[in-house]
Amino acid sequence: MLDAKSVGHIARGVGKIATIDGEESITVAARNLSERCVSCLIVVSDDGRAAGIFTERDVVRGLAGEPGPQNVRVRDIMSTNIVSCTMSTPIEEAQELMISNGIRHLPILEDGAPVGMLSSRDIVTHQKSANQAMQAAAEQVAMISKCFRNLGYDEILALVTREVPRIFGSQRGVLCFPGHSQDPDDLRVISRNQCPCSERNLCNDLVKDPTGTITFHDLPKACSAVQGTAPRMILHLPIYNDTNDSGDIDTDHAYVCMCQLNSSIANSRELLDYKASLLQQILSVNLMNAKLFDRARRDSQIDPLTKIATRRVFEEQFAREYERAARYHHPFCAAIFDVDKFKTINDTYGHAVGDEVLRQLAEIMSQEIRTTDVLARYGGDEFVLLMPETPLRQARQVLERLRPLVAARLSNEKRAVTISCGIADFSGDKSDTAADILRRADTALYEAKRNGRNRVMVATPEPVAK
Ligand code: GH3
Ligand code: MG
Repeated sequence: MLDAKSVGHIARGVGKIATIDGEESITVAARNLSERCVSCLIVVSDDGRAAGIFTERDVVRGLAGEPGPQNVRVRDIMSTNIVSCTMSTPIEEAQELMISNGIRHLPILEDGAPVGMLSSRDIVTHQKSANQAMQAAAEQVAMISKCFRNLGYDEILALVTREVPRIFGSQRGVLCFPGHSQDPDDLRVISRNQCPCSERNLCNDLVKDPTGTITFHDLPKACSAVQGTAPRMILHLPIYNDTNDSGDIDTDHAYVCMCQLNSSIANSRELLDYKASLLQQILSVNLMNAKLFDRARRDSQIDPLTKIATRRVFEEQFAREYERAARYHHPFCAAIFDVDKFKTINDTYGHAVGDEVLRQLAEIMSQEIRTTDVLARYGGDEFVLLMPETPLRQARQVLERLRPLVAARLSNEKRAVTISCGIADFSGDKSDTAADILRRADTALYEAKRNGRNRVMVATPEPVAK
């Protein structure tokens, strides 16, 4: 396969080279030049090798000479100093040769025999189409980058597996991360696009070159067995994580393995490298941002100490449930509960024990409630429980069951841990706002505290303790 950057890839007229025998007169040569619309001819000797170059300028020189044009032979006037290249000469090198020698045509010789002619027009055409291809690639990548906005980390990973192979002219790809062990066979497939290869059979050669952009690889037998076809290419994607303890940025190395590549694209290494480097930059940044954003969102949704929902999540769910219940005239209840004399636990046993009490309380409650209930930490030692589709009497039963259960599980011979709870239900009328319900539950909690703690109080529209 010829390198996409070599002369053989772009030279035109291979096999149709304008040649002439050195014994011909310059009249024949001039006719030849004009009929073939070329500005130079390669003079070929009997053994088929290039003996010289005959140009339009030589015609003028021959005409100006003593014997008439019929009598001047090409070989007398041709230039024997042939500036030439081979099929594998890099295009840039060929261009340099043309510029430094002031010529617009460069013969292509193999073992001294002419096999083609490179013109400056070929080079310009090539550069133009290369620029167009690069521009198209940049537009494609910019389009993907636009799609990444507003997507979460996992969504971006799925999109990478779908869109990146397309950019390289492949319909099939798989995104992998190396596993946590040192074993190069240890791979985690993150997402797949038409690639049924098993992790084991995939790419133990993936991890070998984590610094390259793209590398071509043989097709493993297991890939052929599931209709994979060469060429196969691997794009390396560095994905930045947080800074580690020493302040350096941790980088994960992901790989997109693609096969069934479009061979015309596969031949153009320069374009592939360009696409790969654009993708690397854009994906690395987008994935890092998405990861940080996901984490920030998760952090705002989950209380770090108790691992249950935060107040913010509760308020969103509560507002949603309120709207639903109001529209369909369904009941629901909210309970607020608070650890009794929690300050004393902290003061007596220390904050770490206090934290553990809060953690265990959340765990016990999480295990005991229904999956449709929403439990959240409201702040400090205060928790809230949203109970959809639950009338007040039933909600009270739930909390009356939980109160002694919590006390039994959290208390020991040294300390007693109890909770107080206030419950309020939705009246079914929108004049009873969401804030009213929570205020009533809070008032009922206050009443429970005032009435000696370790009890459940139910609010009425005119909050009166029962
Ligand atoms: P009451 O029976 O009236 O509720 O008395 P209390 O001592 O529990 O009073 P209150 O609920 O007002 O006090 C809550 C205490 O919880 C105050 C604060 O120092 C403590 N606290 C808040 N957040 C945390 C936490 O994350 N961990 C620990 N250990 N303590 C916390
Ligand atoms: Mg308390």
